[in-house]
Amino acid sequence: MSEKIAIYPGSFDPVTYGHLDIIRRGLSVFDHIIVAVLNNSRKDPLFTVNERVSLLKTATEGLGSVSVDSFDGLLMDYVHKKNVKIVLRGLRAISDFEYELQIASINKSLNPEIETCFMMTSNRFSFLSSSMVKEVAKYGGSVHDLVPEAVEQAIKQKYLTGGNGL
Ligand code: ADP
Repeated sequence: MSEKIAIYPGSFDPVTYGHLDIIRRGLSVFDHIIVAVLNNSRKDPLFTVNERVSLLKTATEGLGSVSVDSFDGLLMDYVHKKNVKIVLRGLRAISDFEYELQIASINKSLNPEIETCFMMTSNRFSFLSSSMVKEVAKYGGSVHDLVPEAVEQAIKQKYLTGGNGL
């Protein structure tokens, strides 16, 4: 039987325990997950794409069959290039649902062969987002329980050196 591979796309600016929970649980459904960092020109990120990829690589070490990559442009073009048929996304609140439904519908119209699979957040991560982590860290709060050690250090470093992207 062929390997079930999913692409988990997102900004990951930076990766949080919420993302890692989706990856860990996704690995019980899929044989391999490609975490794909979107180089999104609409957003003003705190971390460069290379930094986000590197933090994700460190954070996913030892989790299992995970690779980390980045892409520009349309997700459907990237998915096609990788010859993958499944997109994995996480869902937290109703607000996520509306946005995700819109994106999944557009993607379906661009490529009907692709299925988007949603995984519900675990309760303890339901209010966790990269933006919240950055907001807390920016004002000196502890993000220790929200992100892996390497990410915590990297955020502290950014704000010490004057980063400001939220
Ligand atoms: P994007 O800008 O594409 O939404 P994010 O990095 O914010 O990128 O999120 C990537 C994916 O991970 C999205 O599907 C998002 O809903 C999901 N996600 C983010 N945080 C959590 C969380 N705490 N629990 C479950 N899913 C999450």
